[in-house]
Amino acid sequence: MGRLDGKTVVVTGASSGIGLAIAKLLGAEGGNIVLNGRQRENMDAAAKEIEAAGGKAVVQPGDVTEEKVVIGLVDTAVETFGALDVMVNNAGYNPFDPVINGGVYAKWKETLDVNVLALALGCREAVRVMQGKGGHIVNITSVAARSAEPDDPMYAASKHAAGALTESLRLALEGKNIRMTAIMPGAVATNLVRSMPEEQLFALGRMLGVDPEEAGIKPGEHLPQEMLDRVATMGKAFVMSPEDIAQAVLFAVTMPESAHVNEIMMRPSQPLQMPGMNLPA
Ligand code: NDP
Repeated sequence: MGRLDGKTVVVTGASSGIGLAIAKLLGAEGGNIVLNGRQRENMDAAAKEIEAAGGKAVVQPGDVTEEKVVIGLVDTAVETFGALDVMVNNAGYNPFDPVINGGVYAKWKETLDVNVLALALGCREAVRVMQGKGGHIVNITSVAARSAEPDDPMYAASKHAAGALTESLRLALEGKNIRMTAIMPGAVATNLVRSMPEEQLFALGRMLGVDPEEAGIKPGEHLPQEMLDRVATMGKAFVMSPEDIAQAVLFAVTMPESAHVNEIMMRPSQPLQMPGMNLPA
């Protein structure tokens, strides 16, 4: 018997990294999972894995910065499985942009659209169907919700906003049987770094012992599995795994009724240092 048997969960950003790990773990615990991201491949594989273990999963690709996509995710959960119990607003983008000195406006906009507005939409839509029934909304923010990031100010601004939204809605929903949890991770080995400037991304690859050209590292695209595997084996103390964060989500959503986990902040055992780059810590 799983800890989420019969519960329905929507996970945004489930095609990669933390969201993919959350979808798999909550699916393995018996949850009916609706997976959203833009690239289908990993989600189809995860859905197969969940179904092979006796669970249920629906893959619904789409861009969460489009209002109708987020509305559609929640409607699909209710139409397919009868209710929405857990909404995980996880999709995120890191611009690695300095704002000053050549900062790119389009990247700032994408950051706020994905990390703040899509998350707010996810909350609004989840509450629409949870009202009167209860439920749990989990927002993946970041340690950057609590720190200033001189190399990445718009990311920090977006995560502060996401944190403020989560806490404000938690208060607004108090006593209504809808819980809100903010999970604030530090460095996790995922594809988030794909939007780093090429020079930094390649330097990260080299630091991990991966030749950027041979391995086929391409800025903006999912990283070669070899690079993520290297982080997992070489950098364990410096970088958490997506599965670590998934465990925190499972913990929050399976607490007894008497306890409401508002926030979880988690960091790697040792801070990650990268020459020439201040990373969120
Ligand atoms: P990944 O890049 O591995 O995953 C990000 C996910 O978000 C992908 O599934 C991606 O989809 C999806 N996504 C991005 N933009 C959109 C969009 N417009 N519409 C739909 N899906 C979208 O990074 P992480 O797993 O690391 O990131 C997950 C969350 O964790 C983010 O909110 C991030 O800010 C947060 N976080 C990450 C940390 C880290 O060190 N990695 C630390 C703290 C917080 P696709 O790939 O299909 O385009």
